Amino acid sequence: MEILVCVKRVPDTSENEITVNKDGTDIEREDLVYSVNEWDNYAVEEAIRLRDKVGGSVTVVSLGPEDAEEVVRREMAMGADKGIHLMDAAFEASDGYGIATALKAEILKGSYDLVLTGAQADDGAGQVGGMLAAMLQWPFAALVNKVEVADDGTLKVGREIAGGNQEFSEIRLPCVLSIQTGINEPRYVGIRGIRKVASVEIPVHGAADLGLSLEAVGAAAARVKRLDYFLPELGEGAEILEGTEEEIIDKLIELLKSKGGIK
Ligand SMILES: Cc1cc2nc3c(=O)[nH]c(=O)nc-3n(C[C@H](O)[C@H](O)[C@H](O)COP(=O)(O)OP(=O)(O)OC[C@H]3O[C@@H](n4cnc5c(N)ncnc54)[C@H](O)[C@@H]3O)c2cc1C
Repeated sequence: MEILVCVKRVPDTSENEITVNKDGTDIEREDLVYSVNEWDNYAVEEAIRLRDKVGGSVTVVSLGPEDAEEVVRREMAMGADKGIHLMDAAFEASDGYGIATALKAEILKGSYDLVLTGAQADDGAGQVGGMLAAMLQWPFAALVNKVEVADDGTLKVGREIAGGNQEFSEIRLPCVLSIQTGINEPRYVGIRGIRKVASVEIPVHGAADLGLSLEAVGAAAARVKRLDYFLPELGEGAEILEGTEEEIIDKLIELLKSKGGIK
């Protein structure tokens, strides 16, 4: 099975304090520590496990500036066979549609059976996977937390549904799946793996290599324009009940009664 996994380089929220920039257009990106989007790391792990079970190869692709190469290399150190970096000034300020347009063009250059994305990335729109499937006219399953390949080669996917319910479906290949966190336990990337891929050449494709006009991607093609970026005003915060355990229980009961929570 030929699998492509889309991976995004994002600020590592466990390593950075995220603030809004002076213009209020984005987060402050100076001096941030970046890593691979958490959901995408699960998707790569799932792709590696599928390949190891049924054969084929795993390719990772990332669209972004020069530094995006580091996440491609990291996921190759994890076990992906090939990497592709999509980089072009024309891609800057793309919305999800522009990003999906470039990824689709790259996908059509290859011959993939399965494309995996994360369920969402740092901007949290959760739109690239679904758009990609629609553009390719391939079937799509979102929030996938189980993938199985039957002996006859058919693919079965489990999806997380609200209320803790689970759905299990058969999906035709080629298809796109957006992967939910927790589907597996991503393997540790050791220094040996990183050294192994340190000098592997990663092809870089720009808009022209993908046969895309400058109007198809970037700010010119963005159909959703970001107007503002801000922290919402803080509410009044939590009320901390003080006193002994008994007093706190009494106060809590009074509070719930006053709010109509209990009679
Ligand atoms: C300065 C700035 C201005 C922006 N302006 C706008 C704007 O005007 N309108 C707007 O809609 N957005 C805007 N964005 C958001 C930006 O375009 C988003 O990165 C993009 O829309 C993808 O959204 P997401 O992170 O929510 O991805 P999601 O759709 O949440 O990501 C889902 C999955 O898609 C894949 N994926 C996403 N991005 C990539 C990538 N780069 N490479 C490979 N795979 C990827 C990954 O597998 C990921 O897990 C702006 C961003 C910046 C930094």
